[in-house]
Amino acid sequence: MTLPLPSEQPCGVHHFRIGDLVVSAINDGIFEVTLDVMAHDRADAERLQRAHFRREPPRITINAFLVNDGRTLTLIDSGCGTIGGPKAGAFGRHLERLGVRPEMVGRILVTHMHIDHISGLVDGEGKPVFPNAEVVCHEEEARFWLGEPPAGAPDALREAFGIAKRGVLPYRERLRTVKGGEVAPGITLEPLPGHTPGHSGYLLRSGREALLMWGDIVHMPGVQFAEPKAGMVFDIDPDLARATRARMFDRAASERLRVCGAHLDFPAFGHVVRDGAGYRFIPEVWYPDV
Ligand SMILES: [Zn+2]
Repeated sequence: MTLPLPSEQPCGVHHFRIGDLVVSAINDGIFEVTLDVMAHDRADAERLQRAHFRREPPRITINAFLVNDGRTLTLIDSGCGTIGGPKAGAFGRHLERLGVRPEMVGRILVTHMHIDHISGLVDGEGKPVFPNAEVVCHEEEARFWLGEPPAGAPDALREAFGIAKRGVLPYRERLRTVKGGEVAPGITLEPLPGHTPGHSGYLLRSGREALLMWGDIVHMPGVQFAEPKAGMVFDIDPDLARATRARMFDRAASERLRVCGAHLDFPAFGHVVRDGAGYRFIPEVWYPDV
C-alpha cells in the first residue's frame, strides 16, 4: 500500500486565545529570496542563518491575522492577494475554509502598505474584496504611500507606490487614519516607524492577556533576533527601523509581552528573551484546545 508524499501542509491556520478573543494566524505563503534583501554584512548573515538551521536560499514567511471577539471580525493585514508570486496569496483561501465570507469582515487594521500586507484587500482586477470593512492605518502611512514618490525614487520604490495605491485606494471612502491610540475596543495602534513612515503594530488586550502584532519588526528571524542591527534593503528609514526594532525587543523582553508578526515563523506567536548581546524568540507551545 502506498500513499502519495504530501507536498503542502494540511492547514495554514493556527488559533490562539487572548482573554475573550481568539486570534488566528493565517499563513499567506512565502517569499523565496536571497540574503541581498538584508542590509547587513553578508558573511555574518550567512553565519547566523546556518547557525539557526535556516533554508538556503532563504525564505520569508508571510502571515496575516484574524481577530474574533464574538462581535466583529477584524483582520490585521491581508497577505499578497494575486500579485505575490506562485508561493504566496493563500490568505483568502484560508479565510474561506474558516467560514469567513468577505462581507463578514468589519475592520481591517493595516500595519503598513507594502505588497505583502495590503494586496489581499483587492482581487485580481483591483476591486475591493471586503465590501463592509473599514480600513485603519497610521496617518503617516497613508500620507506617504497615497502621495507621489519622492523625486528621483528608484524604480522599485515607484513600483511600491503603485502597489500601495492599488491595494488601498479602492477603500478611500472608508479609510480611517489615526496617529495612535485605541482604534477599536481593546485594540491600540502603536506607531513603530522606520520600516515605513507609518509602520504600526496593534496591541490587543483582553482580561489579563495581551498580544502585540508587531508587523515587520522582524523579516529574518534567524538573523535579526541575534543581531537586531541587521536591517532590510526595503526599510524606508534604515536607522529609525533599527532603533525601533531595538526598542521593541527591549520592551517585549522586559514586559514579557507576547508578540506575533507578519514574518515570524508560522504560527508566529511567542516571546522575546535576552540572549547574550542579542535576543532569542521562544515560540508558543502548540496545544489541541484553543
Ligand atoms: Zn512585510
